Amino acid sequence: MEAVVQLNSVAKNVAPVFEKQRKFFFSGETKSYKFRLSQLKKLKQAIKNNEEKILKALATDLGKPRFEAFVTEITFMYEEINHLMHNLEKWMQPKPIGTPLVFQPASSKIIYEPLGTVLIISPWNYPFQLAMSPLAGALAAGNTAFVKPSEKTPATAIVIEDILNETFPEELVAVVQGEGVKTIPPMLDNFRFNSVFFTGSVAVGKIIAQQAAKNLTPCVLELGGKSPCVVDKSANLDVSAKRIVWAKFINVGQTCVAPDYILVHKDVKEKFIAKIKKHIIEMFGEDAEKSPDLGRIVNSQRFEILKSYLAQGDILIGGQTNKEDKFIAPTVLDNVSLEGPIMQEEIFGPILPLVTYSSNDEAVEIIRRNPYPLAFYFFGNNKKAENFFIDNVSFGGGCVNNAIIHLANPDLPFGGVGYSGQGRYHGWYSFECMSHPKSVVKSANMGELPLRYAPYNSTKEKIARLYFR
Ligand code: NAD
Repeated sequence: MEAVVQLNSVAKNVAPVFEKQRKFFFSGETKSYKFRLSQLKKLKQAIKNNEEKILKALATDLGKPRFEAFVTEITFMYEEINHLMHNLEKWMQPKPIGTPLVFQPASSKIIYEPLGTVLIISPWNYPFQLAMSPLAGALAAGNTAFVKPSEKTPATAIVIEDILNETFPEELVAVVQGEGVKTIPPMLDNFRFNSVFFTGSVAVGKIIAQQAAKNLTPCVLELGGKSPCVVDKSANLDVSAKRIVWAKFINVGQTCVAPDYILVHKDVKEKFIAKIKKHIIEMFGEDAEKSPDLGRIVNSQRFEILKSYLAQGDILIGGQTNKEDKFIAPTVLDNVSLEGPIMQEEIFGPILPLVTYSSNDEAVEIIRRNPYPLAFYFFGNNKKAENFFIDNVSFGGGCVNNAIIHLANPDLPFGGVGYSGQGRYHGWYSFECMSHPKSVVKSANMGELPLRYAPYNSTKEKIARLYFR
């Protein structure tokens, strides 16, 4: 007797759409260059048509300043889609590969085939582009997709749904809304997605990997962690402080690759603090709450966690909060304990602890307390120190004398290592992670070495030994 599978309400709603996507995928329509290119064009045009709606939703959910939202969530998408469109035809071509002499005459190639139906799960901090950028990769690679936006930024989640529903038929792209904890398990349990592309916290990443394992669904996990920022004594302190202030306080520190804490060399600490203070005031004024250029904390729960960090060190700069407004001023803390929550958890807010170090070995030892960060930054003009840190710290991606900007280079793979994630995307890497590299060897029908065929004998073994050394 066949087992009767009970579907819950989420799975019941998803089931017919999932079936439609499978059918559509197997029709082969998504495979052609023309089809893929036209979907990318549609996506870009839909974003253009809805710019105002997107900006408004981001202001509602996160108080995102207009310029910041435009640059980090919208122009980012234009750049990514343009890059995909520009290179797609070239990337789609089968890639000729060499063939070992022993198999000649033959040729080998890699064919990048679409995976099928992918599930994209996105977080709240850049809620628009972190849903749309993986989707652009999925479409470029010829897949169909389900998108599950974060429920913590509901206005943006609705705009994403509206845009995608207006632009694509559900057999190509569908949106699922709701709390992750309720919607994702029934989806991963009941449907064999060909890939899950998850962006979010390390804790939920582990849950997703476990759930996906039930159906052996492969996962790309774009996670978080504590990204260190080293300020060497050779650094140009003014330029470094300006770039760090920008990178830390953009989106009020709610950026996966934000410098989480600063390791500053003891010889330059005081001068560096003065420069940080100068640049915070230059960018956000004496009263940062009045600045139109600073967003807000996403919700009260996050606000309370961040507020608790303020008591875990001496406040050098900032420290003001406003619960009603979910405002926390750009803050710099000194004398934090390496054992305390602030140095154990990802901060993900506008609080920047300073940790002083005396030697490069000591700094690396501190970094290794939270190994495999998503990002790492080195500020300094001493090549030897730069090489020391780049060689001795394992990190997803990073910068020298800058921060965050590595993620906006579409030719660089973006992703974590170890605890900060697995798999990578952006540009070619999005195409690659949403495709299966299928390998094919094609042999000619004549003229091969008869070595591998039985009957075997000692001469064959001698030849094999000569060849495979
Ligand atoms: P989160 O892990 O709480 O949520 C991410 C997504 O997972 C959401 O869509 C949510 O609905 C879903 N989800 C939550 N709990 C779930 C569960 N139990 N089962 C299934 N799905 C569940 O992350 P967040 O708070 O939205 O985002 C912040 C985190 O994301 C930070 O750690 C940050 O560093 C990380 N992040 C990483 C990147 C990156 O590119 N590596 C980018 C942005 C954010």
